[in-house]
Parts: sequence; structure tokens; C-alpha cells
Amino acid sequence: MIRLAVVSPCYNEEEILELSAGKLLELLDVMAAEGKVSSDSFILFVNDGSKDATWSIIERLHAKDSRVCGISLAHNVGHQNAIMAGMMTARDMVDCVVTIDADLQDDIKCIPQMVDLYAQGNEVVYGVKVSREADPVLKRYTAQAFYKLQESMGVQTVYNHADFRLMGKRALDGLAQFEERNIYLRGIIPLIGYKSATVDDVISNREAGESKYTLRKMLNLAFDGITSFSIRPIQIITITGTVMLILAFAMLIYVIVSRIMGHYVPGWSSLMLSVWFIGSVLTISIGVVGTYIGKMYMEIKRRPRYIVDQSLLPE
Ligand code: UDP
Ligand code: MG
Repeated sequence: MIRLAVVSPCYNEEEILELSAGKLLELLDVMAAEGKVSSDSFILFVNDGSKDATWSIIERLHAKDSRVCGISLAHNVGHQNAIMAGMMTARDMVDCVVTIDADLQDDIKCIPQMVDLYAQGNEVVYGVKVSREADPVLKRYTAQAFYKLQESMGVQTVYNHADFRLMGKRALDGLAQFEERNIYLRGIIPLIGYKSATVDDVISNREAGESKYTLRKMLNLAFDGITSFSIRPIQIITITGTVMLILAFAMLIYVIVSRIMGHYVPGWSSLMLSVWFIGSVLTISIGVVGTYIGKMYMEIKRRPRYIVDQSLLPE
């Protein structure tokens, strides 16, 4: 029987926690009754250094029903790290985990579908937002523009997927091998590999409390989403320098022609050429230095080179 943990990060979620815990427990009951998951499946709330009553609510809910579990982090480490903490804590106790935001804006009816897909051999099941109607307009468009930008920078992610997903034990073990500190799970998890599937997730409104994702947190996430996976910004510097060098040569021709034609001011030619040549040489140099830094950056992450899916080896 599949033992499931529902991992949910909570930062100042006192208004909604009890409601969410109730819904998730009900779901676990139904799934256990249908034989989809074992009856000792549980919820793991990760209190991400909340300043309100979040942790005491988790303690109270745990006393009432031992399937409500929790860990409390010593300080606020942000959504991504909080999810990571929850997944790594649950990893050795379960067959699979589902991560979902504590406000349950994602459709919890997807969870049984995710478990079915896991039972059919998928190690990762992504919840993909099919409708963002409930998201504020600005958020909807900025999020989509961001997914596009990311794609153009060569970061491979699942389009319109946030962090609502199921991961099996093997995928979690794979994830544990990524030792980097700036984690952007939507970028790392596709790198693990294994068979995966998606389910359609219809987003609803937050029922209580307000968004804990401040603009600053969102921009940080977006920045990590690109800079942790791509050194294309550095390549762009080298390309810019090269384009400038070509322009410098065009300038050289223009200056020579102007001289022959006799339209020139003394000193102008040397000044013009120096500006363009020095500019391009500097830009290319920064790009070259950046290329080495980019390589060091990728090495320093010590990402696993490969993860074995199956093997047939001698005894
Ligand atoms: N969250 C967290 N740490 C933070 C900020 C947010 O654990 O520093 C949690 C929050 O409690 C929620 C989830 O991350 O469970 C997503 O946040 P929210 O629903 O506020 O974001 P939105 O849905 O508005 O993007
Ligand atoms: Mg939310």
C-alpha cells in the first residue's frame, strides 16, 4: 500500500491552516477508504519561521489527530527551502510526497489522480495550471512572461507548473543529490529525470489570509530561476562585445571613406576608432572572464552527473 505524505509550507498561515488541515484529512480518509493510500499516510506542515500562531495551531491539530505532523524551521527560509525541508524530512518515511501550498489554491482533487499516476509507474507528477482565472491579472501575465523568458534562456521547466507535484521516493533520493543552495525546484526536478506525467490543476482563490509571496520574494524566485540554471546572460556579454567589434570595423571603413572624401575634423577619426575598439575589447574581455566564472559556477554546484533508472548487472 502506498504511504503518502502531503507536504505543505506555511508562513504566517494562521487564518487558513485549520481549514486546510481539515480538507486534507478528509481527502486522506477518502483515499484510504478507497485503498489508494495507506491509513498511516499523513500531512507534514513546514512552519517556515512564522511570526503568528501557525506553529501552535499545528501543535494543537497534531494533538487532535496524529496524522497532522509538522516541523518548525528556526527562521524564515522561503517557500522553496521550506518545501525542500518537508520533502527531505518525509523522504525516508513514505513512498511518495505531494507538495501543495497551505492555502490549497491548487485543486486537491488532483491528488488522487497523482497517486494513480504514481501507481502506474510515474516518479514525478506535475500539477499544471489549466486556468489562471483566479490569479490577479498582473500576476497571470507576469508569470507567463517569466516562463517565456526562462525558456529563451534555455532553462527547461514544465510550462505553467508551480510547486504542486507528486514525487516518488526514488525521485526524492535523486533530488537529495543536488547539493546546491539556491534551489529552484521547478528547474531541478526535470533534471532528475524518470518517467513523469501531468495532471490538470484549476486554481481557485485564497479562502483566507493574503498572499505571503511579496513582490520581493517573487522577483528573487524569478532571478534564481534563470541564474541558477543558465549562463546565457554571460554569453550575451560576449556576443555584445563581438557585435561591437564588427561595428568598430564598420566605423574604420566609414572613417577612411570620410577622410578620402575630405569631410573630417582633425582628431575625430582617432577618437571615434579608439572609442569603438576599446569598448569592444573591454566587453569581450568581460565576456571571456565571465565564461570562466560561469564554468566554475556550474562546477561548484556539484550536481550529479547522472541518475540511474534501471540496471541489469552481474550478481
Ligand atoms: N510560504 C513560505 N515561506 C515564505 C512565503 C510563503 O513557506 O517565505 C508559503 C505560504 O505559506 C504558502 C506558499 O508558500 O503555503 C505559497 O504562498 P502564497 O499562497 O502566499 O503565494 P501565492 O499563491 O500568492 O503565489
Ligand atoms: Mg497561494
